[in-house]
Amino acid sequence: MLQAMITAEVGDDMLGEDPTVNRLERFVADMFGHEAAVFACSGTQSNQMGIRVHCLPGDELLINETGHIANFEGGAPAAVSGVTVRTIEAPDGFLDVDSLEGKIRVNDQHFARTRLLCLENTTNLGGGQVYSLEHLHRVSDWATTNGLKRHLDGARLFNAIVSGGYSAADVGKCFDTISICFSKGLGCPMGSILVGNKEDIARARRIRRLFGGALRQTGIVAAAAMYALANNITRLKCDHVNAMQLASGLAAIDGIHIEANRVKSNLVFFEVEAGRGLAIQLAGALKEQGVLVGPMGGQRLRAVTHLDATTDDIAEAIDVIRLCMGRGFADRPMVGRGPYSK
Ligand SMILES: *Cc1c(COP(=O)(O)O)cnc(C)c1O
Repeated sequence: MLQAMITAEVGDDMLGEDPTVNRLERFVADMFGHEAAVFACSGTQSNQMGIRVHCLPGDELLINETGHIANFEGGAPAAVSGVTVRTIEAPDGFLDVDSLEGKIRVNDQHFARTRLLCLENTTNLGGGQVYSLEHLHRVSDWATTNGLKRHLDGARLFNAIVSGGYSAADVGKCFDTISICFSKGLGCPMGSILVGNKEDIARARRIRRLFGGALRQTGIVAAAAMYALANNITRLKCDHVNAMQLASGLAAIDGIHIEANRVKSNLVFFEVEAGRGLAIQLAGALKEQGVLVGPMGGQRLRAVTHLDATTDDIAEAIDVIRLCMGRGFADRPMVGRGPYSK
């Protein structure tokens, strides 16, 4: 990947003259069966570009209550687009027609205009769950029938595609805009992309400029993304196998709770038994032993498998966690913080 970056052909992307970026945008648009695509600095940026494209100030979007857009983007829909966020209870992070029915506000001056439906695939805090294609179609058809635009937060969309057994073009049919991250499972240092129709992507490009995200010799990072699309997609199934191995290893450790059979992609959520100590303390103890897991607040932790973690690393991580649990960690200071809640 670094070699591809070093040797990338570049130009001024602000002028549309970076050949590597142009190739990447064309390639991803075609892959998803959409007309156009625009590179973005981060997944937050491409999500917010999508929201701004579809909504006006005073509009409302619907999203699962655990959604990244609702929780982890600094309040951006309100701050940068004047859009209110209506979160909907969603088991495993999945929105479905029965939970969405009745959530579109009546067209009346009292109410925000419900304008946009946002889904997440995989469902990150929902447990890294994967929508089936039928489910995507059902919700997407419902949104279209009810006059909503459809945006997909596909930070880990290729994990979903590999796990769900459908294609990028299959997913493309279900959404008006899709944001995909290169910096997660695909292993790039930075970058995301937004796909959609020509008009929407032209508007998104103007919005990207407004958000300070229009870059110059972007080919250096676009080359990393091209490399990842060629080399790092099919290997995602290794991350999923590793995640399942980690989950079954964790299930056998005294004081750890996990439903190992619910692991569907590269995210492994588990709980440390109350009374043993807090997630944040366990995470601190594990970090000292070289095992990085994210404390998610309270007793909950998240482990992520990725291209820098081998199957042997997973076995070692399980050993380290077992030892830590055996030794105890409740006397540890509560340093650092869970990124997600107190
Ligand atoms: C990581 C992530 C994003 C994008 O976050 P950035 O930090 O801006 O790259 C969006 N949605 C989900 C579900 C994510 O996990």
